[in-house]
Amino acid sequence: MSCICGNKKDYNECCGAIINSNIKASSAEELMRSRYSAYVKGDSNYLIKTLVANNRHADDAELIEEFSNSVKWLKLDVLHVEQNIVEFKAYYKDIDSIKVLHEKSNFIFKNGMWLYVDGELFNSKVERNESCPCGSAKKFKKCCG
Ligand SMILES: [Zn+2]
Ligand SMILES: [Zn+2]
Repeated sequence: MSCICGNKKDYNECCGAIINSNIKASSAEELMRSRYSAYVKGDSNYLIKTLVANNRHADDAELIEEFSNSVKWLKLDVLHVEQNIVEFKAYYKDIDSIKVLHEKSNFIFKNGMWLYVDGELFNSKVERNESCPCGSAKKFKKCCG
């Protein structure tokens, strides 16, 4: 069994435990993984709860749900982790193609919990020679590319 975030653990022992109970993420990476899983599930409450208060906007829930409903999330690759920074690629499929969200996210530990602050987005594409994000084990160019 794998979690939605790609960890080799059951969802209920990984992101599910953080999203659905009072167990707090113990690191920026754990929080980032749980936020990815919440995106997959369209859980805007959790995503807003784990966003630093200064960066919340009135229409966040609407925008999160709209985006989550319009794409199919495929997989998460965590590329680089520092104490307060996690760089990742999250692959998703929209109406016409597979795309990748490549972000370096900043987190803060505040009042006993990790929160998402903001992120720097990179203009990345799925590489033709990387293994296809759909999970087929073929190269992207010979599969969904
Ligand atoms: Zn997980
Ligand atoms: Zn494919």
